[in-house]
Amino acid sequence: MDIVLLNGGGVDSLAAALILKNSGHTLHSLHVQFDYPASASMVVAAKAIADAYCADQVVVTVAGLVPWGMNAPEATPTGRYRSVPNLQLVVSGIAASYATRNGYSYIANGVKNQEVWGNGFEPAISALIANHNHSQLKQPLLFMRPLSALDDAAVYALVAGNSVLNQTVSCLSSPPCGTCFKCLLRKSHNLS
Ligand SMILES: [Zn+2]
Repeated sequence: MDIVLLNGGGVDSLAAALILKNSGHTLHSLHVQFDYPASASMVVAAKAIADAYCADQVVVTVAGLVPWGMNAPEATPTGRYRSVPNLQLVVSGIAASYATRNGYSYIANGVKNQEVWGNGFEPAISALIANHNHSQLKQPLLFMRPLSALDDAAVYALVAGNSVLNQTVSCLSSPPCGTCFKCLLRKSHNLS
């Protein structure tokens, strides 16, 4: 099947690409670039994943929506970064539009099991796809979440030794802050 992979350039995106590709699917990488401090690095990381696992790739740039500006810390008080729901809606809309325009029926992301209710993406894209499928458009869209049964440890176990792993980017600061949840997780797996 042809699947639009929402590819952020991180470890989860790599794991999702790996699973879907190994299942025989054809992946079309879609990276949505916001103006995070690390955005330039994230584009490069997404490209590395796409070069390895995807048939083609696009980058969509959406500027001016990151509310805290370029220099504010990206971590929440709990240490795990959360995007604001509006950004997730933007990503969902772009993904649905891109899939529809190209005749692809599936959209996949790298959201893990513990992130479902804390991440705005899932409810956003579910609502969007429900609306889409009630429209007059011929082709229904389906949402796939290949990491749905996995936690961080399982994802890192899956990508251990992968040649693209070192090229992934997890922190939204540039250079990586070294102190946020994602930086600490990388360190614990001997990743810079
Ligand atoms: Zn960090």
